Amino acid sequence: MTAQDKEHFRDSIGTITEDGKRNTIYPKKPKGKFTNYRTYVSWFLLLQLIIAPFIKVNGNQFILLDVMERKFNIFGQPFWPQDFHLLVLSMLIGIVFIILFTVIFGRIFCGWMCPQTIFMEMVFRKIEYWIEGDRPKQIRLDKQPWNAEKIRKKGFKWFVFFLISFIISNVFLAYFISSDVLLQYITDNPLNHVGILIKLLVFTMVFFFVFAWFREQVCIIVCPYGRLQGVLLDKKSIVVAYDHKRGEDENGRKKFRKNEDRAELGHGDCIDCNQCVVVCPTGIDIRNGTQLECVNCTACIDACDEVMVKTGYEPGLIRYASEDDITEGKKFKFDARIKAYSVVLAILVTVLVTLLFLRTDIEATILRLPGQMFSTTEDAVSNVYTFKLINKTVKDLDNVEIKLISHNGEVKMVGGNSKVSNGGLTEGTLFIEIEKKDLTSSKEKLKLGIYADGELIETTSTNFPGPMQIKK
Ligand code: SF4
Ligand code: SF4
Repeated sequence: MTAQDKEHFRDSIGTITEDGKRNTIYPKKPKGKFTNYRTYVSWFLLLQLIIAPFIKVNGNQFILLDVMERKFNIFGQPFWPQDFHLLVLSMLIGIVFIILFTVIFGRIFCGWMCPQTIFMEMVFRKIEYWIEGDRPKQIRLDKQPWNAEKIRKKGFKWFVFFLISFIISNVFLAYFISSDVLLQYITDNPLNHVGILIKLLVFTMVFFFVFAWFREQVCIIVCPYGRLQGVLLDKKSIVVAYDHKRGEDENGRKKFRKNEDRAELGHGDCIDCNQCVVVCPTGIDIRNGTQLECVNCTACIDACDEVMVKTGYEPGLIRYASEDDITEGKKFKFDARIKAYSVVLAILVTVLVTLLFLRTDIEATILRLPGQMFSTTEDAVSNVYTFKLINKTVKDLDNVEIKLISHNGEVKMVGGNSKVSNGGLTEGTLFIEIEKKDLTSSKEKLKLGIYADGELIETTSTNFPGPMQIKK
């Protein structure tokens, strides 16, 4: 192999051929310790993903992201557009956490937690192995002409893929329109909801396209997180890595020969069996070093460990390790960059917890009715307002009353005290009347209290205009 051939991986990607066509990857079915752990983790995460929109906490959907109705529930807690700053802060925390996590553990998220990898490798790929068989059978099937066997296997696979894509679309929809509305649509005549049905089918086709054809290219070409690796990873980051010192030694890798003393010949432990390459779902050779295509799926660790055990060598030729660990034997250190990210993360989390703690149960907005002047009697001034009350709690507030705190005076709510259901909004009109003797200016600042069953739960303020000449 020439030096140019060896460096070829740098200017090409495994999923595209020389002439720019799609190069289908046929990864060998992985098996081993890490594959088993990843399978258990994926079952757990898939279960979470599927049931989360159907779990209720005090009547609130566990996770709801209803953008159209502007209703958001996180862990059963309702959040309103007025809480948008909390959402932004949570997202910032998420980003800093992912950066910190990546700096330390590389792309571990991609291999173990990313929905794309979980659906691709743990759902769709497993179905493919079940219907079409392992790598050699898949290659053979794709090469053979369209006969009865190929039509049957491909047709059945695509049917199952479409069905699962449709189920995934329904689950995703439940996150955005709520599971109650979704179940109502499902039980109703579909012709009454043609619009939503079309959207559902569009999403289904997108999922089908991604998992049936586009596949690992999402991670290689589309995902922005994947593109960030170049700036986030350094020599201290723990990634799936090939121990090139041990694998190559002085004279490089070499095919295995029984009873040969490789150490004496100066060859490393890599027997050049190619097993780590054929299991790779992104079609790379990890022996070329850390590459942007690697999603840290651990399939090559399992494949190589199996080879090492069979040939009598220590497992771990490919393992979770940093470049510093492999080349200099340096173990993980909590360096300045990690400390800085940790401090930022701790500050953001503290601010979020404080804001959540200070978040009021009720959001009250009291504004003067547009275009309305104040009215006066001999002794008093009166103004008319609109009020909006948002109940952010998970319980109904049956007896909500608004009272003046800063002045003596009277608040008359049209229709009496209000009822605000949990997560609900109540609007109405009220009059505020204050005796002239209690006013000091023509634009008084009022402080009002919101009471539920006689208990003060929130305060708010509003302006109270009056005549220029206030009688003292
Ligand atoms: S599986 Fe291990 S021994 Fe085989 S080629 Fe890969 S690194 Fe070398
Ligand atoms: S190189 Fe190994 S860990 Fe990376 S994607 Fe390929 S098989 Fe998975």
